[in-house]
Amino acid sequence: MASPLPAVHDTPDPDFAELLARRPQLKAHALDGLLMDEVPLVQIARAVGTPSWVYSAATLRRRYGALRDALAEAGLDASIHFAAKANDSLAVLRVLAAEGAGADVVSEGELRAARAAGIPAGRIVFSGVGKSHREIALALEEGILQINAESAEEVERISEVASAIGRVAPVSLRINPDVDARTHAKISTGLAENKFGIAYTDAAALYARMASLPGIRPIGLAVHIGSQITEGMAGYRAAYSRVAELAQALIGRGLPVERLDCGGGLGIPYRDEVPPSPAALAGAIKATLGPLGLPVMLEPGRWIAGPAGVLLASVVLQKRGQNRRFVVLDAAMNDLVRPAMYDAWHGILPLAPDLLHAPLSPADVVGPVCESGDTFTRGRALPDLPPGALVAFLDAGAYGATMSSTYNARPLAAEVLVDGHRWAVTRPRQTHEALLANQVMPEWLGAGA
Ligand SMILES: *Cc1c(COP(=O)(O)O)cnc(C)c1O
Repeated sequence: MASPLPAVHDTPDPDFAELLARRPQLKAHALDGLLMDEVPLVQIARAVGTPSWVYSAATLRRRYGALRDALAEAGLDASIHFAAKANDSLAVLRVLAAEGAGADVVSEGELRAARAAGIPAGRIVFSGVGKSHREIALALEEGILQINAESAEEVERISEVASAIGRVAPVSLRINPDVDARTHAKISTGLAENKFGIAYTDAAALYARMASLPGIRPIGLAVHIGSQITEGMAGYRAAYSRVAELAQALIGRGLPVERLDCGGGLGIPYRDEVPPSPAALAGAIKATLGPLGLPVMLEPGRWIAGPAGVLLASVVLQKRGQNRRFVVLDAAMNDLVRPAMYDAWHGILPLAPDLLHAPLSPADVVGPVCESGDTFTRGRALPDLPPGALVAFLDAGAYGATMSSTYNARPLAAEVLVDGHRWAVTRPRQTHEALLANQVMPEWLGAGA
């Protein structure tokens, strides 16, 4: 059985200075401690409490801009559709909407969030293997840019729903290119064994079928091979080459192909990974799909939002085990599940200025949830962290708050947006009253105490 404990690494962990050097949004101030942009994180933790998510608007803008510029510099006609499942905070979506971003959504809830944040329906793509009738109808009524279909069954369903409400659905076909993105098994999506997309060999016939259906306007092809891709461009190149080949064949048969959706998946350095740059991704797209001369779309989530967020937590107590030091935090796997779910490594920095320079010794950092998997890291070099000490988990802006739960009846953490020297709570901490509020007691069980 797999160990529930985080992965063992064969390189030394980056130290505090190395973590800071790679993250321009964070700085260590001699008096105020750790800053996000111009705001001391201690100030936010004191005012809002912990655990709390804090996002940097400047970082979201900077990273969105870097991707857009890399695509433009490669000479691509490209649009960026932020994957809302990475971070569906309305404030985060609004910051990106103002930059011109579209969205990639996978549920009615995300579609509503993107629209509520001001992202035009004409810039929204609906992805996912199991869209309901209701979701398809809503997407069409909103006037969505495109639906990415993932199966023959779904193509028929989309046509039926569209015809029933008098619409024609713009549909791209998501291809399963059967390539290995060389990422964690739980976030690999481009292998034939994964549930995603249409087998490459079936795609041309299905595309022709789409063109014959009354409720569908075929738009093009889509591919998304996985997430947190850090091991070079080979997977991307292989996938895009297959898309190019197929698109060429479809065009050759006289079928309409308007644009190509390149998916997301670009990785970020959590520990010491060296992921491909936006320029490398743009170059791979240009080299493989460029000759077709079609507009392309990108659906990044993690790359834009991951480094833009931290999770603040307080030390509840330090427990001296027989030969280990446990730092028990008020944040847990229900808040940030990535270490438990994907063996993920997150940088952990203390917020107070003195703790950023104090002597270090190994510690296991854990949450209070009743699972051994509620372990953020083992043997991490950290200073003495007395009760009340504050820490930040780095790179928690993607697949952080969106994956959190209320396991152990723990309310959802607050969310905060920092914008230069300003900051605001964008989602107050869930109250205990709210946590119980939507439950209904069957009347035959009585009123209770
Ligand atoms: C999750 C997902 C993305 C975003 O993935 P990242 O790794 O966050 O960039 C893009 N497209 C689809 C279809 C997805 O499922």
